[in-house]
Amino acid sequence: MNRRELLKSAGAFGLASVAGLPASASVAAGNGAAASQVTTDIIRLKLRHTWTTVMSASNYRDTFFVHFKHDGITGIGEGAPIVRYKEDAQGAQVAVNAIKPMLDASNPEYFQKVMTEVNHRIPGQWAGKAAVDIALMDWMGQKLGVPLYEYFGLNAEDAPITDFSIGIDTPEITRQKVREAADFPILKIKVGLDTDEQTIAAVRSVTQKPLRVDANEGWTDREVAARKIDWLSKQNVQFVEQPMPADRLEDLRWLHERAALPLMGDESCRHPEDIPKLVGIFDGLNIKLDKTGGMGTAFLMIQMARALGFKTMLGCMVSSSCSITAAAHLSPLVDYADLDGNLLLSNDPYRGVTVDHGKLILPRRPGLGLVHARSAA
Ligand code: MG
Repeated sequence: MNRRELLKSAGAFGLASVAGLPASASVAAGNGAAASQVTTDIIRLKLRHTWTTVMSASNYRDTFFVHFKHDGITGIGEGAPIVRYKEDAQGAQVAVNAIKPMLDASNPEYFQKVMTEVNHRIPGQWAGKAAVDIALMDWMGQKLGVPLYEYFGLNAEDAPITDFSIGIDTPEITRQKVREAADFPILKIKVGLDTDEQTIAAVRSVTQKPLRVDANEGWTDREVAARKIDWLSKQNVQFVEQPMPADRLEDLRWLHERAALPLMGDESCRHPEDIPKLVGIFDGLNIKLDKTGGMGTAFLMIQMARALGFKTMLGCMVSSSCSITAAAHLSPLVDYADLDGNLLLSNDPYRGVTVDHGKLILPRRPGLGLVHARSAA
C-alpha cells in the first residue's frame, strides 16, 4: 500500500481526526444546502449543596451551551469551563461567537472538518470547543437517527456504574451527604486538606462501601502523600486520584513506585500528547470532555490510554445532563465512570442519561437523546 492509499483507507475508518485534516479544508455547506444557525448561551446551574474541593467552593456554576441548527435539526452541546485552567463561560462564549460566521456557513455532516477548523481558530477554551463538538455530534446522531453510543459502535448494556462524589465538608454534612447517596454502590471522596482522616472517618461511620479518593493535587509533600495512601489502603479504597500537583511528575513517579493503591491521573492528563509521558506514573487516566475539547478527542484519548496499558475513566465537571449524557455515550468503553455532575444540581435544564443504583442508563433516542426538563416533568 502506498502512502496515498494508506491515507485514503485511514479516512474511510474515520481516522482523519487522528491525523488532523488541513485547516484550510472547506467546511462550507455547499451544493446549495442551507446554511446553519449557531447560537450560544450561558446557563447558571444551581448546586444542591455548596461544592467544595481543594480548588474552590461554590453554590452555582455557569456553563456554556451551543445550539447548532441545520436542516431542521438542532444539536445541543455544553462545556463546563475549568477554573484550574483559567477558563470561564464568558471566555468560551466570546471565543465561539468570534467564529460564528464560519460555523454558520458550515455543514455539520462534515463535523470532522468543522472541528479541525474550530481547533485551528480557537486557542485554548477547551470547554467552549467541547460545546461545539457535542452539538455537532448530537446533530449527526439525530440526522442518522441513531443514539450516539450506537454511532460509536458501543452497546448501552456495557455502560459502567458511576460513583457519586462527596465534596469536602464538615463531618456532620459529610455523613448527611453519604446517607443521601445510599443508592450508589461506590463513592468518590474529595480530600487534599489537613482534615482528610476526619473526612474518611465520617464516611466510614455511615458506610463500608468501596471508595475512590480524589486529592485534586492537594498533597504537596510526597512522603506525606505516601503515608496517607498507605492509611487509605486499609480503608477499602479502590484508587487515589491526582495525589500531587499535575506537573510534579518525578515526585508522582516516586510515589507510584511506593503507593499501596493504584494512582489515577486527572489534572496531569488533559490532551492526547500528555498520555505517553504518564506511563509508569499513573495506573489509570481520568478523561473529561471539558479538558479534551469534546467527544472526538476523548474517544481518541481513551483508545490511546488503553493501548498504553492504562485503566480508563470518564469524569466530569459540575454540568447539566447535556455534557454528562455526551460522556455517558462513550462510557461503555471505559473501566470506571465518575459521571455525576448533573446529580448535584437543583435546576438541570435537560434529562438524558439516568442512573439506577449507580448503573448508567443511556437514552435510546437519536443523538444525545436529550429532552427538556420541563417537558420531561
Ligand atoms: Mg479529579
